[in-house]
Amino acid sequence: MTSIKLPNLEAFITRRNSLIQHIRTTSGSGVVVLNTAKEVFRSRDSDYPYRHDSDFYYMTGFCEPQSYLVLQVTPTSSTSIIFCRPKDLEREIWDGLRLGPELATQYLGVDQAFSVEELNAMMPDLLKNQTHIYSRLAISSDMDALLREWLNSLRAKARLGIKVPQHFHDIEPLIHEMRLTKDAIEISLMRKAGKIAANGHIRAMQTSRPGLREYHLEAELLYEFRRNGAQSVAYNSIVATGQNACILHYKASDAELKNGDLCLIDAGCELDSYASDITRTFPVNGKFTTPQKEVYEIVLAAQQEAIRHSILGNEFQKPHEKALEILVAGLFDLKILNQATHGTVANAIENKSYQPYYMHRTSHWLGIDVHDVGSYREPMSSDDSSRILREGMILTVEPGLYFRPSPEVPEKYWNIGIRIEDDVLVSSKGNEILSSDAPVAINDIEGLMSSSGN
Ligand code: CA
Repeated sequence: MTSIKLPNLEAFITRRNSLIQHIRTTSGSGVVVLNTAKEVFRSRDSDYPYRHDSDFYYMTGFCEPQSYLVLQVTPTSSTSIIFCRPKDLEREIWDGLRLGPELATQYLGVDQAFSVEELNAMMPDLLKNQTHIYSRLAISSDMDALLREWLNSLRAKARLGIKVPQHFHDIEPLIHEMRLTKDAIEISLMRKAGKIAANGHIRAMQTSRPGLREYHLEAELLYEFRRNGAQSVAYNSIVATGQNACILHYKASDAELKNGDLCLIDAGCELDSYASDITRTFPVNGKFTTPQKEVYEIVLAAQQEAIRHSILGNEFQKPHEKALEILVAGLFDLKILNQATHGTVANAIENKSYQPYYMHRTSHWLGIDVHDVGSYREPMSSDDSSRILREGMILTVEPGLYFRPSPEVPEKYWNIGIRIEDDVLVSSKGNEILSSDAPVAINDIEGLMSSSGN
């Protein structure tokens, strides 16, 4: 038999070893049980496209449904076990190849592998005489039910002197803390995901012209993602023209791209389980109007200043605070806020006078999930202090301004919605913008669009 193994297998083994070490430090010994995501029924005979669970993937690299990872940890040894779907020629003809337990040990680098059909029979034995269980608690009702079933079967044998685990630990914070800092393999994938998504945005800008509809540009994004090997979008693409740009989670629909309007695209791809997340706002006809330019320059200045502060050692909050200062000063410049009513920039920030026009935060973590896991607070601090940015963390920076028709807003700005978003890796040298291939300066966007016939 030829030797096959998962690409980057060492990274997954290293992660499991870190988790094992953490369990030793916390409780000396214990058993980890981690399940992947369920297949979800869509309609009649069709399912939604299957997406594995992110934590399970991070620990195993395995993408098949109906899989479980079990780690038995003692102070001096550990055993890793995978339960997966058994080989089944009949099912494989219909649904595709299965790895099967026979190949799973070498492919996934685990000590043992069994058919998932043996899970319920084997788990009580694997939990017997253990004290600590690490699993998802009160998150997946399926996992809760399985744990209850396995433990009840052990409790029934308590009179025989069998010990039943008494201490339950939620495994998510442990894994999420690990996922917050990306390793070299993850960073390299996210660079690629950023480039592919940036190309999608470029293609959409090049295609844009009055008379097309939002879904035409959505199709261009998807074409660029897939032809570069991305498996899917990282989230439903937002293609929002005209007043739709003021709806934050608008989905690409059938609105017509009109001469003189802007189009806001918030779209990223998922490449080998890693997300990119980019927003660009551009004129449908390739030329910004003066009021659009005025607003755009404010959002861009806020975004650049926030990126400058997305560096090692700064608090996670800092980029948001810096973006706010510029956005709010801009709202005064545009005469949407005024001194008589709102006082100074600092007053307006404190009183949240900007909230009708900027109602979301500036950043979130990015990784296997588009809104990635990891606490926004320092986990070990006694107060609620903000997370300090460290090398290997990846965050989005995405300020915006949104003007619905309102008596407070000069009419020339009505229905302008602008957001600019990039993906930023905190590095030892400061930071690296993973999505910088997508043009962002007004001149660059207008230049790109005019060279493509706009
Ligand atoms: Ca985002």
